Amino acid sequence: MEKPVYHRVLLKISGEALAGDKHSGLDFEVIGQVCDVIKKCLDMGVQVGLVVGGGNFWRGAKNSGGGKMERTRADHIGMLATVMNCLAVADVCEQKGIPVRVQTALEMRAIAEPYIRSRAIRHLEKGRVVIFGAGTGNPYFSTDTAAVLRAAEIDADVILLAKNVDGVYSADPVKDPTAVKYDSISYDEVLAQHLMVMDTTATSLSMDNHIPVLLFALKDPENIIRALCGENVGTIVKE
Ligand code: UDP
Repeated sequence: MEKPVYHRVLLKISGEALAGDKHSGLDFEVIGQVCDVIKKCLDMGVQVGLVVGGGNFWRGAKNSGGGKMERTRADHIGMLATVMNCLAVADVCEQKGIPVRVQTALEMRAIAEPYIRSRAIRHLEKGRVVIFGAGTGNPYFSTDTAAVLRAAEIDADVILLAKNVDGVYSADPVKDPTAVKYDSISYDEVLAQHLMVMDTTATSLSMDNHIPVLLFALKDPENIIRALCGENVGTIVKE
């Protein structure tokens, strides 16, 4: 087995990635593949925290009906959507014998533990996967920001950002055939060029806390293992 270069990672999976080709709802084949890879990570001795998005069900800004709904409440729905995804991923983890706990930023004691940093770290140290739900618990934030926040709190070595694109490009590769993919880019360049890696709040939080972000495509979930072994499977954003 190859030796991992990271000890503790924060994996972020967007809701859309969990929907597979359907783009909404849940694709249990994709979730199963992701959980298989998470199991391999644990077998390699890597501690895994997971933040899951909710965009496969609801995005506050996009789905609030152009002002028909108050934004804060629309974001509450988005945070609930992330919890639905967390429960689905936790269930598949359990079916595969992966020890897992869900912790939510908004209390829902009947279905998940509340987020408590020290408890989350203890779970990780015991080899359990911790799935962080409900984003940051605040409206106007994204689950990318939640991923950076939790990564900082649990002292993760890296944020593995699994998306539907395979890296950071100089322009939108769908619209511009001359767009080039970066192997590595600085936070400053991402912010200055308004590159669509993460939102600016998430990017600046990772910059201020010196947490490298590796963006790669979830299409091949084995990319997660390659990333753990230090292979550059996408684009690394760092200082
Ligand atoms: N959300 C929020 N606060 C957070 C994280 C998420 O209000 O800290 C809401 C927001 O409405 C967002 C939705 O949850 O649109 C789903 O999260 P996100 O769009 O980040 O999911 P992803 O794009 O990763 O699937």
